[in-house]
Amino acid sequence: MRASKMSHANEGIKCEVNTCYFYMNGDHCTADMIEVQHKNAHTSQETDCATFKPQA
Ligand code: SF4
Repeated sequence: MRASKMSHANEGIKCEVNTCYFYMNGDHCTADMIEVQHKNAHTSQETDCATFKPQA
């Protein structure tokens, strides 16, 4: 899945990863979709956002 950057926040997502290309001030994400991994996780620490992309 490939996410596109929108001109506004995705209101369904709060994200603190301020080093991501999709991050917007106020802990928003501007990706139109995100993918979360991994299979068989047992705790939230075992999950992460696979759509993360470093800022250019
Ligand atoms: S793509 Fe993932 S890591 Fe990046 S701002 Fe959105 S939710 Fe956060």
